[in-house]
Amino acid sequence: MAERKIEGLWDCKYCGCTGIGGLTKECPQCGHPQDADTKFYMPGTVRYLDEETADKYGKGADWTCAYCNTLNRYNETQCKGCGASRSESSGSYHDNQRRMDPRQAVREPVREEPRASRQPQQSSGGGKKAGIVFGIIAAIIVVALIAVFAPRKAATLVDAKYWSRSIEVEAYTTVEESDWSVPYGGRVTSTTQEIQYYEEVLDHYEDVQVQRSRQVQDGYDTEIEYVDNGDGTFTEVEHQIPRYTTEYYYEWESRPVYISVPVYGTYYYYDIDRWLYDRTEKASGTDDTPYWPAVNLASNEREGDRQESYSVTFRTDKDKLYNAYVPEEIWNGLKTGDGVELTVSGGKVTKINDYEFR
Ligand SMILES: [Zn+2]
Ligand SMILES: [Zn+2]
Repeated sequence: MAERKIEGLWDCKYCGCTGIGGLTKECPQCGHPQDADTKFYMPGTVRYLDEETADKYGKGADWTCAYCNTLNRYNETQCKGCGASRSESSGSYHDNQRRMDPRQAVREPVREEPRASRQPQQSSGGGKKAGIVFGIIAAIIVVALIAVFAPRKAATLVDAKYWSRSIEVEAYTTVEESDWSVPYGGRVTSTTQEIQYYEEVLDHYEDVQVQRSRQVQDGYDTEIEYVDNGDGTFTEVEHQIPRYTTEYYYEWESRPVYISVPVYGTYYYYDIDRWLYDRTEKASGTDDTPYWPAVNLASNEREGDRQESYSVTFRTDKDKLYNAYVPEEIWNGLKTGDGVELTVSGGKVTKINDYEFR
């Protein structure tokens, strides 16, 4: 198919006349001819030139005379405006277009949009009232805490003393245990074969169908472009763009199939001697002479951990009682009936005379 050509349009910059046919070289309104600033553009409605006219165009861009700026046909060797030779001019129509529109991307500066959503101001009426109530409650709590935890001094007498001491007794005892191995000193009584773990073993291969996809060309899309010939005409060029679709297909694939195989191991049952807690021997009293309890050890026994505690009860002149656990040396220094100044905070004794609890 022969290339089809269309007559372009141009605007006269002198009188403002627009939409002049590209093959009309002089403005029909003011008579100014096309010049270096002329730009051809496609008409809104495409009408093809007849074959005879089309044959004469699209063979070369117009050229501009360097002396008088006249636009001449491609095949003219001398300017029809002033007669100057073409060889002295180099600017073609396309060169002129590049000069006028160097394809500079003109970007709008990005304008900061003022934030549309402003947080509405909290209306103060109800909020203020709630704030005052909250403040009062908080103040009451703070005062109450101070009242409870503020240290208070109290004059007291030592009312009673109590001590307690204990010793744990451990016995070397034979116990039955079982495990995958025998610790030092263990005496094996029996063993069994049991599943210790499972191993994944390749059993066989299995053919499975797997879906795959590929791009397949299933035709062309036609794209039409109008090329500016630079002589008042445009040539229609059709481009065939391959079109693709996704095709799905199945493929056989061999996949390994594994099975779980139990692995057996020897499991041991054994006797072993271990030190185990047996009992606690205790002694306690309300006197001033604490002692450790007597421990009668059998041949397979030994002493374990020791525990001791010392406490004192104080009585105020209003018969209020306070109890405190103290280190042995403090306890030793306090005798029943002694006058003692206690410091109490939150119901707890924090200081006895000069001794402060940490
Ligand atoms: Zn004009
Ligand atoms: Zn000229």
